Amino acid sequence: MNEAIERVKVLIIGSGPAGYTAAIYAARAGMSPVLYTGGQPGGQLTITTDVENYPGYPDGIMGPEMMEDFRKQAERFGTQVRYGMVTAVDFSAQPHVITVDDQKTIHADTVIISTGASAKWLGLESETRLNGKGVSACAVCDGFFFRGQEVAIVGAGDTACEEAAYLANICSKVYMIVRRDEMRASQIMQKRVMNNPKIEILWNTETDEILGEDEVKGVRILNNKTGEKREISISGFFVAIGHQPNTAIFKDFIHMDQSGYIKTIPGSTRTNIEGVFACGDAQDNVYRQAVTAAGTGCMAALDAERFLAEQENH
Ligand code: NDP
Repeated sequence: MNEAIERVKVLIIGSGPAGYTAAIYAARAGMSPVLYTGGQPGGQLTITTDVENYPGYPDGIMGPEMMEDFRKQAERFGTQVRYGMVTAVDFSAQPHVITVDDQKTIHADTVIISTGASAKWLGLESETRLNGKGVSACAVCDGFFFRGQEVAIVGAGDTACEEAAYLANICSKVYMIVRRDEMRASQIMQKRVMNNPKIEILWNTETDEILGEDEVKGVRILNNKTGEKREISISGFFVAIGHQPNTAIFKDFIHMDQSGYIKTIPGSTRTNIEGVFACGDAQDNVYRQAVTAAGTGCMAALDAERFLAEQENH
């Protein structure tokens, strides 16, 4: 039982573009980083298809493939990539104490938080009950099950548009449920859905209930201008209404905004705790792109390196 507690210089939590980029830089700086992947190794890009806006890939690349490349590059320079979930932290003293899978304890001189964000849900009882039985937050993962069938997607951001267009390639019809009379998505993405004959946009519309006992059979929608309710027959219901940062385990120590995004000191990845840095979507409510996440991952590794150098000089 008295297993020696492992001590690491840099512990990276999360395996999206931010975490792996931090790992590449930390490994190349000789800091022997240990990276825990979390529950979704590779992060959000592993549930997307083509990534067309990451510089260096003129023909685009599939998200999962890109994240494999990130992992290989991090490992090439000596990062230890481990499959596991950080379940608790204690940042009250140096070194920081990290618990993995409720079992293993690690002492870390520096911690880089790159835990990203996860999909939000509407919060309907029927949505929870039918999750995995026709309700999904990932068109790319589950769209195939509804080949040739009619589906609905909720949301009006870039994600909803991208997923609606993806579903339209597979399904016979896609209803897009939009709660206002305009979309938040970029113009180019809006045009893509509006010009797609297989996508019908239902403006000023909310989801009243998802219908079906053991599988999705339809959805009852409410027009919030007229108060009219009606039922549409569908077999897949997709939710694409944004994300929330995966930061709950840090809340007792780290300063965050009201939505749970970690506050960093402007121009750096430093948090309110010495030696703890945050990068990627866990601290970015504005840009939320793979390339910006990677950029802040690089910053976090450089900040950690400087912090360790200062400690050694004292
Ligand atoms: P966003 O936060 O941008 O959009 C969320 C959408 O969901 C909004 O239209 C919002 O409506 C709607 N919504 C939120 N809550 C509810 C609810 N309870 N019921 C109904 N609708 C709801 O999230 P995204 O995931 O779309 O995008 C996140 C970020 O990622 C953005 O910056 C986006 O630009 C970027 N992104 C870029 C892509 C690309 O460039 N290829 C692809 C995908 C994402 P309302 O507008 O009324 O608030």
